[in-house]
Amino acid sequence: MPVLQSVRANPAAAAAAPGAYAPVPPTAIGPQIPAKGYLVQEIGKRLYWLTDGFYQIMFLVTERHHGQGRRVIVVDAPPTLGGNILRAIEEVAPGARISHLVYSHHHADHIGAAAKLRDASLPNPVIIAHEQTAHLLKRVPESSRPPLPNRVVSSSYRLEVGDQVLELHYKGPNHTPDNLFIHAPRQRVLNVVDIVYPGWVPFRNLVVSTDIPGWINAHDQLLEFDFTTYIAGHLTRLGTRQDIKIQQEYLRDLEYYGRKAITEFTDVGPLFAKYPDNPWAVFKEYLDILTQTTADAVTPAWTSRLGGADVFTYDNAWTMVESLRLDRGVLGPFGTRP
Ligand SMILES: [Zn+2]
Repeated sequence: MPVLQSVRANPAAAAAAPGAYAPVPPTAIGPQIPAKGYLVQEIGKRLYWLTDGFYQIMFLVTERHHGQGRRVIVVDAPPTLGGNILRAIEEVAPGARISHLVYSHHHADHIGAAAKLRDASLPNPVIIAHEQTAHLLKRVPESSRPPLPNRVVSSSYRLEVGDQVLELHYKGPNHTPDNLFIHAPRQRVLNVVDIVYPGWVPFRNLVVSTDIPGWINAHDQLLEFDFTTYIAGHLTRLGTRQDIKIQQEYLRDLEYYGRKAITEFTDVGPLFAKYPDNPWAVFKEYLDILTQTTADAVTPAWTSRLGGADVFTYDNAWTMVESLRLDRGVLGPFGTRP
């Protein structure tokens, strides 16, 4: 109980009480998750979408072939789904074996349950990932490291298993240095993780992406693919091409108002006077003002359009402002001294 009491005493926790945030718009709400803890749906020819309402993946099942068992290609293994991935496969394709496991990127919240899938399948599945993923996973302590890939992709790779096809494409760093675009051309489904959040604003700090211009550009790259359904890896529902365009519109607003805040707030003299011996305090307050100005301009128009606009727009504005400064050279009063 002492732990719970200390949480209650924490003002940050109190601020997050129910009712502290705007109601979630209907467009952010997905299908009901059954009591068993997951929902599995066929959304294309033997291509299944599996979700627990927080994380989501897809898997593809091959057709039955003269006495050969059916095989399954699974993309990602989020720990929150864990053993439910095996249960969902058994539910829709009894007796089918996982022959291939594809990693979208190296983040543990998306592939942390991979060992569970590998160990449940004999012979062990082929594990496919970008070459950077293999490199990044080697840094993870062995005790918590997902199995290393045994087939690596550098730019493009076509995987054919029975009558199922998956095309993997690497387009440079965005959310992470190793994020793959995973396309099922026959079902016109595109699975790219941690770029767009259908119905929701992006996770805080623009998904804590390592390359913000690359991550913003990835939205255009998504739209270059032939697809009707987008699997985002996260949250409540499937996505469409329209969801990608809506998130682009949100980002354009953040960029426009972020740029405006930087160029209009020029008088930093009072901040230097307020903290004469503390440059970090000057700079924190300067960035906080820009971030708050941007968030105040963007949030009201978006709370009825995307879930969590009032939850994460401040953090997203902070990252957009910092990317404008560092990646685009919009430096305002900290530009080149005359
Ligand atoms: Zn990630």
